[in-house]
Amino acid sequence: MKTFCGRANPTTGAMEWLEEDENYDYHQEIARSRYADMLHDKDRNTKYYQGIRAAVSRVKERGEKAIVLDIGTGTGLLSMMAASAGADFCYAIEVFKPMANAAVKIVEKNGFRDKIKVINKHSTEVTVGPDGDMQCRANILVTELFDTELIGEGALPTYEHAHKYLVQEGCEAVPHRATVYVQLVESKRMWSWNKLFPVHVEAEDGEKMIVSPSEMENCPGVPSVCDIQLNQMPSSDFTILSDVVTMFSVDFSKPVRSASTYYRVQLEPIKSGKAQIVLSWWDIDMDPSGMISCTMAPYWVKSTSAFQWRDHWMQCVYFLPNEEPVLQGEKVYLTACRDQYSVWYKLEKARGEEENKADVHVESPVCRCQAHLLWNRPRFGELNDQNRTQQYVKSLMKVLKTDSVCLCISDGSLLPVLAHYLGAKQVQYFFLVFRSLRFTLVFLFFKANHLEDKIKIIEARPELLTSSHLEDKKISVLVGEPFFTTSLLPWHNLYFWYARTAVTSHLTSNVTVLPQSASLHMMIVEFQDLWRIRSPCGTCEGFDVQTMDDMINNSLNFRESKEAEPHPLWEYPCKSLSDPQKVLTFDFRKTVPQHCLSTEGSVNLLRKGKSHGAVLWMEYHLAADISVNTGLMQISNEKGNCEWNPHCKQAVYFFSSVIESETLSDLPSAVTYAINFDTKTGEIAMDFKL
Ligand code: SAH
Repeated sequence: MKTFCGRANPTTGAMEWLEEDENYDYHQEIARSRYADMLHDKDRNTKYYQGIRAAVSRVKERGEKAIVLDIGTGTGLLSMMAASAGADFCYAIEVFKPMANAAVKIVEKNGFRDKIKVINKHSTEVTVGPDGDMQCRANILVTELFDTELIGEGALPTYEHAHKYLVQEGCEAVPHRATVYVQLVESKRMWSWNKLFPVHVEAEDGEKMIVSPSEMENCPGVPSVCDIQLNQMPSSDFTILSDVVTMFSVDFSKPVRSASTYYRVQLEPIKSGKAQIVLSWWDIDMDPSGMISCTMAPYWVKSTSAFQWRDHWMQCVYFLPNEEPVLQGEKVYLTACRDQYSVWYKLEKARGEEENKADVHVESPVCRCQAHLLWNRPRFGELNDQNRTQQYVKSLMKVLKTDSVCLCISDGSLLPVLAHYLGAKQVQYFFLVFRSLRFTLVFLFFKANHLEDKIKIIEARPELLTSSHLEDKKISVLVGEPFFTTSLLPWHNLYFWYARTAVTSHLTSNVTVLPQSASLHMMIVEFQDLWRIRSPCGTCEGFDVQTMDDMINNSLNFRESKEAEPHPLWEYPCKSLSDPQKVLTFDFRKTVPQHCLSTEGSVNLLRKGKSHGAVLWMEYHLAADISVNTGLMQISNEKGNCEWNPHCKQAVYFFSSVIESETLSDLPSAVTYAINFDTKTGEIAMDFKL
């Protein structure tokens, strides 16, 4: 059977529905899932085990049979823990069929067939009674349904339903309770992920400023959480304005209400500053006493000895709707609003308590300016990067002439505005957009900067561009950042090359293309932690989970050639084991060739360590000697620690086997590679031999 999967086509920049093998989706889901990461999370696993043992003992001490309901059993791990701890029977519920099948196999292999019943259903479909899925209601409720935001995976409605229909009153719950903590901070770096700062341009006739549309200034943004590895954020990048406070907690052993609500706390700033960001994380207490606690607190809050790396639970960055000046010691109210699946915050100056309560609006924020829908947080950061802007300014100054006719192809780009300020009055500007959302945003920008009649927005796809769109002019300067919102992997922005090819008949014979070319770079690395998400687990807390390893491996190999995956490497420390190497170049001055671009070679290993994989990134050569790098910024010390562009995701290709060496002499001296850019599909396939 075939199914249709939506995917952006890097040769057209458009979303397409591709016919895929029916197994494609679930293989993707398994291959990219966080199951391996969870199984490697020792801190989580041991605490669940302790909590489950304690809950089973409490029930047994009361002289009752221990009947466990495990919602979202995944590999069956928590049910096996319960059975080992002496539970009489476990109902293990799993909605995702391939996982439910895996759980059945794992449960059998570990000898728990008589104690654990795997039910492939959503918990809200589970029935109780003599003919039901469960014989009776459970008296122990075990779940792990949490994401970084705690409630984003639907924990609240699932608990609400389970308490109503599936468990007994007064049941034991593991975890027993979750508590959400917040801290108010000022951070230019993080605020730059949500608001566009004015862009200063040094033009020949003085300094110019690009301003944001007022719609954007006052826009509350989108309610989707920004989850990051906060432990990678240096303390110099933010200023703490308040102590850590408890925002709200949920007791899982009592009926849970999932309906929208709000929580409010009073804060006394410990420092004056601009309140912009609420940092948030949670902990879960596995037992009522709070002695067994698993916390996501960042490094400045908890002792380093408690540190456990994990990627399935991180920390949250919430943007206040607007920045608010706060004064040390002058109380403010912080309100957390939530619906069933997400949380958002607002801050108010302390007035009378009653007065404040009256105007709590729990509706979730809606982006009014389009920018928060079109640009993600890293894209905001990239546009706010003044150094990067300077590279474009310098190169535009080089290429723009008084009689230039300029066409820009990039998504929601400020390049036309920059170019306008830098170019001579006579320069003609066109800006190609091909989706209405982009049209609205670009138009708002041009209006805010009084450029509506200076830059013409063309709403057409590149291949449908006609000379009448261009007022019968030929383009002498074609520019792009390039950036497209549909790009997932670094080379997907090569869509610029395809668009450039499509508009060739409208270009002058000596057209200047900016960037003139791009290059793909590659380096072999050892990850400090990220390797865990791809590493087999074998046994977990004494249970054989190899079936899961095999299943992930099988899904990774579902495609003949494995695929690289995007990761923002500033969040995932690694060290370089080889020098960076340029592996392919793409000449935008020419059209996309018919044939594939391929390369083979080898890269020397220079440092000892584990070769976990290769990292690949793009560099754009704007003009002679001016480049923008989306990958490795520098290798910061002799140990090989890498610094990555903080606004871009890099491509990571994990090697299927890891080579480890204690000494340089044990190392194979080189890794050989074969890399192929298929110009028909816009995809890059690669193979490495260690
Ligand atoms: N309990 C396992 C896996 C946790 S991942 C462990 O701790 O290692 C969460 C799992 O819950 C996923 O496999 C997801 O498919 C499943 N899930 C989430 N909500 C569910 C629900 N309401 N009913 C059934 N399964 C659910």
